[in-house]
Amino acid sequence: MDIITDPHALQTRAFEWRCAGMKTALVPTMGYFHEGHLALMDHGRTNSDKLMVSLFVNPTQFGPSEDLDSYPRDAERDAQLARDAGVDALFMPAPESMFATDHGTWVEVPGLAAGLCGATRPTHFRGVATVVAKLLVLAMPTMAIFGEKDFQQLSVIRRMVRDLMLPTTVVGRPIVREPDGLAKSSRNAYLTSGERRQAPALFKGLVLAHNMVMGGEQDVDVLKKYVISYYTENLPDGELDYLEFVDPESLALLTRVNAPCRVAVAMRLGKARLIDNLCIDPSDRLVSEK
Ligand code: AMP
Repeated sequence: MDIITDPHALQTRAFEWRCAGMKTALVPTMGYFHEGHLALMDHGRTNSDKLMVSLFVNPTQFGPSEDLDSYPRDAERDAQLARDAGVDALFMPAPESMFATDHGTWVEVPGLAAGLCGATRPTHFRGVATVVAKLLVLAMPTMAIFGEKDFQQLSVIRRMVRDLMLPTTVVGRPIVREPDGLAKSSRNAYLTSGERRQAPALFKGLVLAHNMVMGGEQDVDVLKKYVISYYTENLPDGELDYLEFVDPESLALLTRVNAPCRVAVAMRLGKARLIDNLCIDPSDRLVSEK
């Protein structure tokens, strides 16, 4: 595995691969790898000739009071995991090589970035879209692979790639969970043992909403009321940021669940801010009734 720190060295290597007719994949990450990251790498390895992974804790997607400095990092362990996962090139740039001090060009997708996480993290998706645009220009991958864990991020990136006509196919992959349902996340490392015991209730609340829709409930106010009272009881140390039912394409807020939707949640729990989401398709109910 090559470890590349110079952005232009990545560009040269990726260009050679593309010119040789190879199918290439890129998995952008902020590191501190877990099985969620490894599942994306696995998909890339089995569906391409060359697999690139970027490991970059992107300062521009953190707000001023967020966890940029304390974000968990372990570059040596990550490099070994990437090697074991069959990665061909691990790109680990220094922040100053990705963002010059007078960097002034931003990619914004305001329609999709305004709500949900964007409401409390107003510059987050601008930072994400800009760094992913740079990574796609450098790596020129046939496919770029992202997790549905960050559902809003995936929507923003799909729209950016479409709007800018970038020659990459965006692939979304399912959320990898702990056995108790908690979505794997580098930020789970922030949880104390007491918080970790409460954390699986975040996903269980989404499953409760899913089951209520399967039982015939469509009114979002009713669904929210039940899930929020479930959280109050089972996640007493959590502080709800949002719980929303959204259109899976436009991310518009829904008042009734009468078509496929995503229920998305963000919760502060101690030092962590946890997010999760689940697809709910009310037509599954009709299938199971047949
Ligand atoms: P991060 O390092 O947290 O920025 O995540 C890098 C990529 O891994 C993003 O596309 C995430 O959506 C994805 N990812 C993170 N956690 C999971 C998970 N539990 N399951 C699937 N993908 C994930």
